[in-house]
Amino acid sequence: MPVARIQVLISSLFSQRFSAYLPELLEQEGLHFARTERVPHPLEVDLLIRASDAPTLSEAEVAFLMAGGRLLAFALEQGPAGAARPLPPGHARIDGERLRFFEGRALPGADHAHGEAGEPRAPLVQELRVGAGTLLHLSVDVADTVVRLQQGHGPVERDLPSAPDGSAETEDGLLKADDGMTLDWLEDRRLTPGGQPYFAVAAADRWRRWLLQEIVRAVSPLPVARLAYWPAAAPAAFHLSLDSDGNDPAHAASTLAFLAGLGLRATWCELEGGYGPELQRAIHAAGHEVALHYNALEREGGRWGGDAFAAQLERHNAQAPARATSNKNHYTRFEGWDELFAWCDAGGITLDGTRGGSKMGNRGFVFGTCHPYRPARADRSGARHALFELGFLSQDMDLDAARWGDSSITGPLLSEVEAVSGCAHLLCHPAHLHAHAPVRDALEAALRLARARGFLELTACEIAAWSRARRATRLTPRAGGLQVSGAPQGAVLELLRVGSVRQIPLETPDSFVSLAQEAPHA
Ligand SMILES: [Zn+2]
Repeated sequence: MPVARIQVLISSLFSQRFSAYLPELLEQEGLHFARTERVPHPLEVDLLIRASDAPTLSEAEVAFLMAGGRLLAFALEQGPAGAARPLPPGHARIDGERLRFFEGRALPGADHAHGEAGEPRAPLVQELRVGAGTLLHLSVDVADTVVRLQQGHGPVERDLPSAPDGSAETEDGLLKADDGMTLDWLEDRRLTPGGQPYFAVAAADRWRRWLLQEIVRAVSPLPVARLAYWPAAAPAAFHLSLDSDGNDPAHAASTLAFLAGLGLRATWCELEGGYGPELQRAIHAAGHEVALHYNALEREGGRWGGDAFAAQLERHNAQAPARATSNKNHYTRFEGWDELFAWCDAGGITLDGTRGGSKMGNRGFVFGTCHPYRPARADRSGARHALFELGFLSQDMDLDAARWGDSSITGPLLSEVEAVSGCAHLLCHPAHLHAHAPVRDALEAALRLARARGFLELTACEIAAWSRARRATRLTPRAGGLQVSGAPQGAVLELLRVGSVRQIPLETPDSFVSLAQEAPHA
């Protein structure tokens, strides 16, 4: 077989954790894998990954191991040699960064171990011989950790206590996305070169990429097949969204001219009424995207509710040159768990950008990610929403440095985005681009840096369309190679081995990629 055969074992026997969200992580990584609900024979698969939080191995899983299978499992309560030791919440050290986790379990009796997690230190990866097979045990449930970083421990129902240093007043009587943040004000922030605290590490993205590394290691020397993150295997993406607060046509006109000068297209999120049909047509005609800026702010007459969302979307669509396919909530208003995503799905919204910080001191990777992802539903079944969420990292830099933050964050943000091959989603208000030269200068400087590093510029609907098409591409192993079906334009096949990546651009949607020369090597 030219590439590793990886299967994900789905089970709904137990669902205390978000373990069943694992396929989302692997789809984000563009990985070629199959799902199964039954334990296969060891000869059918090179690695079986258990997307379940059942506390002990099943009889079928033990039989699979005894017969020589290789099984990857997360945070078991009971292993082949006895009960696990629980790990308190802490950080794991991965690729030089400290990544937050919320719970973990280390098994006794490992033959080999690597990595470290928690205090006192426990191994992150344990290898246990079971019969003729190998159990790879990860002491942290990566899928559950990623959901908690991206979406929180539970629904947003109250304000998050403010940052103790006064840099981010989340306790402001308004329920917003950042009230669901699970990172720690003291332990998870760093200072920008300008001395402003921010969430520096894309922890969810790094957890996911580390899991992929462990999968590559587990099936070595066979290569793992996947599709590169972005078209033409660009190193990262850049996305600008604009919020129309004030709806002043003069702000839109000057912003349109400013962006034309930069050669940058943006996603314009418009509050009720927007800039009016004529300007909307001009924005649309210039290659930008017109989108919704849902207003649930009570003091402006907005309301949090599915009917209010649908009504604002309908009025927007009745006037706009094209139906809105993306949204961001005004003020990042947010409540509950995934109600917003359900409203978006029902209204044809394919990408939402609401999840970002709202203060100077909670910029950066507040939710641990700069990748588009399909949010988990509340029931822990592994079910996901159809839309993609892509949070923003900073807004209106250099408008009012003490309140909104300065542009000294730009370099560190873009470096972390590049390190995880993500998307730098920045937010500006045309009102501030219009009135404040420093805001324009900060955006221009960020764009210049992103361009120098080869970031690909995309609108929200382009990101959603690409993400959907990339995930829908089928890779089917055939004798001597891989049959590719339905690859979007710009797709690049990657063969991952420990320490190396081979990239193969796919010139047509359907093609056979010969891997006859891909003799396994260590
Ligand atoms: Zn707004």
